[in-house]
Amino acid sequence: MALKLYNSLERKKVTFEPIHKGQVGMYVCGPTVYSDVHLGNIRTFVSFDVIYRYLMHLGYKVRYVRNITDVGHLEGDADSNAEDKISQRARLEQLEPMEIVQHYMNGFHNMMHRFNALDPDIEPRATGHIIEQIEMVQDILDNGFAYIENGSVYFDTVKFQKEKKVYGQLSGRVIDELMTETRDDLKNQSEKRHPSDFAIWIKASPTHLMRWKSPWSIGFPGWHLECSVMSTKYLGEYFDIHGGGNDLKFPHHENEIAQNIGSCGVAPAKYWLHTNMLLMHGKKMSKSDGNSITPYELFTGDSPHVSKGYSPMVLRFFMLQAHYRSTLDISDEALQAAEKGYKKLMEANKVLQGLSFDTYASAKTETDEAILKLMQETTDGMDDDFNTAIAIGKLHELAGYINKLANKQLASSQISESTLQNLKTFYQSFIQDVFGLRNESEQNAEDDKTLDGLMQLMITMRQKARADKDWATSDLIRDALAELKIQVKDGKDGSTWSKV
Ligand code: AMP
Ligand code: ZN
Repeated sequence: MALKLYNSLERKKVTFEPIHKGQVGMYVCGPTVYSDVHLGNIRTFVSFDVIYRYLMHLGYKVRYVRNITDVGHLEGDADSNAEDKISQRARLEQLEPMEIVQHYMNGFHNMMHRFNALDPDIEPRATGHIIEQIEMVQDILDNGFAYIENGSVYFDTVKFQKEKKVYGQLSGRVIDELMTETRDDLKNQSEKRHPSDFAIWIKASPTHLMRWKSPWSIGFPGWHLECSVMSTKYLGEYFDIHGGGNDLKFPHHENEIAQNIGSCGVAPAKYWLHTNMLLMHGKKMSKSDGNSITPYELFTGDSPHVSKGYSPMVLRFFMLQAHYRSTLDISDEALQAAEKGYKKLMEANKVLQGLSFDTYASAKTETDEAILKLMQETTDGMDDDFNTAIAIGKLHELAGYINKLANKQLASSQISESTLQNLKTFYQSFIQDVFGLRNESEQNAEDDKTLDGLMQLMITMRQKARADKDWATSDLIRDALAELKIQVKDGKDGSTWSKV
């Protein structure tokens, strides 16, 4: 089966045909770095991580670009007197905006690594592309799709629609509908010719912290501009996949398309992929609404929403149990079930990798057929718009066969050697390479081994210090270990250690 994906632009599943044979260019809208990344953001980035991994698994050479939004943007984009979230934070904490950005960007990277998400190939930052953004504003002005008002530049959606007839195609919004929408927070409405017009350059108020020189004013770029600019710069005017959460369809992505067509005459992406929202208590998890739980709270269990802590891999598995286009509601029961499912899969893989028999079936058996069919169905699930829910279900069914083979409910004469070898490679590569699931208990065992090695070294050093009557060093070691809640017991067969 060929890879199919749901193209939001066409509102249907279509066969994936890359623009350049064997290559895929993918742009995903990254985080705005003014506070800790929340689990909803992580769900979106984990979904695209699996999409990235699966495309590579299929043999494509993928260039994955995910930006960092580090220019602070205003709610409702037009009031230059309002303060953006990054500046608000900077003022509150008496820091440079770039210190805020650096802090939360580091936190984001750290969290992505804990969730075992691969780094993108390019991670451009909006502040590093101000010149290109100014150039694009100029191109849009030159093409007649924008106007200048009091130092700000607005995209002329009405003129654009009249000539190009595509505004609203992605989101299904109609300009007339947008006209009737009132937005109380849009104070600079008067500068716009039409309520659906949007700012592409905003004149900064005297107190606005993040500001750059431009031909129109000292100001800052509109929110949607950076993605148009950076996707074009690194992937070309027309590339394969553009992704983001479905809350970005409008206005962000709709306006991105308008800007690209307005500046270079070409819509940016062939396929638009949108992930669905992570919910808590049936509502979108959102930083600004306070309806969110931090990953740290989930790791430690320090939250009224959960009965215990859950590891990053359990959370990753939990997310993959749902298809990226379905909503996912987080609850303690669902996480407990995910923990069981994750452990079962890890255990099955470990058992499978250790399986080997003296004798095998000499010809293809029913078991062979059933296993090969399930392997095919796992791949079919992923080929069907990256349906991780189906694929994981099939891996669980395969776990049933693995366990039966291991406990001899199924004799080794029921399976041929080549099927077992196939299954070993397939299972390992799906779990590790495609789903990005690490076996945490193996990791923990390795960490324990390292710790034990270090402790044996400490014990030897302490014994040497005592033999040398170097009481200062031996006390230092004893006190430092006590601080770490590690107890060393001296017996006649040597010393042992334990955590107290
Ligand atoms: P932001 O930092 O708010 O710009 O969001 C970064 C990414 O996370 C965007 O693609 C959003 O669509 C996505 N996102 C935000 N909230 C959620 C949520 N509750 N569930 C899934 N994705 C989300
Ligand atoms: Zn974007």
